Amino acid sequence: MQFPDIQLALPDWVGDFCAQWQEGFDTELKRAAFVVALSRENVLRGTGGPFAAAVFDSARGMLVAPGVNLVVPTCCSSAHAEIVALSIAQQIMETHDLGASGLPPLELVSSTEPCAMCMGAVPWSGVRRLVCCARGEDAEAIGMDEGAKPANWEAALAARGIRVVRDVCRAEAADVLRDYAARGGPIYNGRDGAGEKSKVESRKSKFQTEDCR
Ligand SMILES: [Zn+2]
Repeated sequence: MQFPDIQLALPDWVGDFCAQWQEGFDTELKRAAFVVALSRENVLRGTGGPFAAAVFDSARGMLVAPGVNLVVPTCCSSAHAEIVALSIAQQIMETHDLGASGLPPLELVSSTEPCAMCMGAVPWSGVRRLVCCARGEDAEAIGMDEGAKPANWEAALAARGIRVVRDVCRAEAADVLRDYAARGGPIYNGRDGAGEKSKVESRKSKFQTEDCR
């Protein structure tokens, strides 16, 4: 039997977008602004959901790996921006553990607070710090499901030595979410009620994105 490889390829435009970013990455605000701009570009290009993330070497002010949401175009429910960015960073660093000895402390910046799945992925990844822009409730306001995340999720990460910073560029990030919804972008949640699939299908038909092939 043969089964397909799993590929989480970034859209072609992402490399140029990163190369042309002029603002730098030396402050938390600049790193957050970059990630929010990346999420906006993913919406404008129609290449995925309204979410982006990136792994940074914050001490050196360097971008390590970007990620954008690729759920619909890759037919992969786990292709959230955080998972994509962490996975690419791990490929670049050639280790599953971004906290391995010899590596600089790495930071994950996410345009929206991690959902239940991504919150679980953060401690396994080895990053030491998490910076969030929009809040989970901002994503829920457009119909996205954040999943069964504990109310004290920040404390749960802090207990594992991961510092969480919230609300950096929140207004700008929430604006990207609202713009995506206004454009009719697909809201692809888990099975949470009858009629959900037909709602997604009707939204997809209005949204210019690559469907599953
Ligand atoms: Zn997620």
